[in-house]
Amino acid sequence: MKIKSYTLFMAKINMKTPIVEIDGDEMTRVLWQVIKEKLLVPFIDLKTEYYDLGLQNRDNTNDEVTVKSAEAIKKLGVGVKCATITANAARQKEYNLKYLLPSPNATIRALLDGTVFRKPISVNRIKPSVNTWKAPIVIGRHAYGDVYKAAEMEIDMPGRVELVYTREDGTERRMKVADFKGSGIVQGMHNLDESIKSFARACFLYAIAEKIPLWFSTKDTISKIYDGRFKSIFNEIYENEFKDKCKAAGIEYFYTLIDDAVARVVKSEGGFLWACKNYDGDVQSDMIASAAGSLAMMTSVLVSPSGVFEYEAAHGTVQQHYYRWQKGEKTSTNPAALIFAWSGALAKRAELDNTKDLEDFAKRLEKAVIDTIENGIMTGDLAKLSNPAPCQILNSWDFIDVIAAKLSGLS
Ligand code: NAP
Ligand code: MG
Repeated sequence: MKIKSYTLFMAKINMKTPIVEIDGDEMTRVLWQVIKEKLLVPFIDLKTEYYDLGLQNRDNTNDEVTVKSAEAIKKLGVGVKCATITANAARQKEYNLKYLLPSPNATIRALLDGTVFRKPISVNRIKPSVNTWKAPIVIGRHAYGDVYKAAEMEIDMPGRVELVYTREDGTERRMKVADFKGSGIVQGMHNLDESIKSFARACFLYAIAEKIPLWFSTKDTISKIYDGRFKSIFNEIYENEFKDKCKAAGIEYFYTLIDDAVARVVKSEGGFLWACKNYDGDVQSDMIASAAGSLAMMTSVLVSPSGVFEYEAAHGTVQQHYYRWQKGEKTSTNPAALIFAWSGALAKRAELDNTKDLEDFAKRLEKAVIDTIENGIMTGDLAKLSNPAPCQILNSWDFIDVIAAKLSGLS
């Protein structure tokens, strides 16, 4: 009540252009509404173009809503996305789905192309489990192709599998993959030079803007053509476009094998961008997130080569918490990365529209979250990691109320 009456006297911040709002599933969908109601709508004249990517609606629309949401991001330039369920057999049964819908993130990434940057939110009270890390490690994950756009086949009897490349002019190249003596599996994946080039450019631009070194790793000793192409494109882009700029920014570009990179990362002081191929980035970002603190503290932004941005939390829909919430429990689910998805999107909107008060609001919102945790008030996931021990462990609703009070200047 107090917060409401106070905000009555404040003029709401104007937004020039809407952002694309992509709603999602389960616990994150529940918190999404609370964040909007308590932390955004009282302060901003919030303008969004809304797409409901809840699993039921994706099924009802034969997934057209997912494609439409990506098209809307292309049009408006900035999107913010809630976590969504990637359907599997169990979900198909649970939601009575017509068919196994593809991963919405994979669909959106395929349409927007680009690179996903994942950065942990640093707070003083939460120390990384790797005690040499002094600054956050950012993952730059290529968001196109490889295993996420692969063709897979089950092999049910002995036979030969070949790669066949039929050129537009009709000529053909063939290569044996394997002679199967019995049943097995096979997979064909691809990538595109143009996509790898924009991945490389996005990483160099990010590293230069943040003034942090860029590491890149692949397995080119084993995959000489596929991973070898990634390595040579990065090198070419560095030599031709970014060498001088890196020098001017005082940062280094460093290439190494993925296994060597993993070993170095855990012995490093942090504070660099680690560019990873799509699958490596998927796995390593979860490793970095949990070693830095909690998956719930990992932010994520998709930067497309066409200059559009999609912000989200790195974590999923927090399924088990949702089932407990459905039974009436007020769970202690951490909303920090979801809030940062909104603040990131609003800050980008402000930058593109040149609206300083919106930019200031996004900063204040992030500061309110960090200050709250640094003051010892947090959700259960962080409580176990907090040093010194937390003063108060709150459920998500009470935690958001504390942040709202800080934003209103009431605490
Ligand atoms: P998850 O939702 O990220 O949750 C995994 C575990 O991490 C949770 O059980 C919880 O641990 C902890 N956790 C994650 N976020 C948290 C938060 N905000 N606050 C507190 N704890 C948090 O991953 P999942 O259970 O593997 O996947 C659930 C669904 O999310 C799946 O259907 C999957 O397809 C989807 N998913 C979506 C995205 C996306 O849209 N970007 C990404 C990943 C997964 P405790 O149970 O120990 O508390
Ligand atoms: Mg993952």
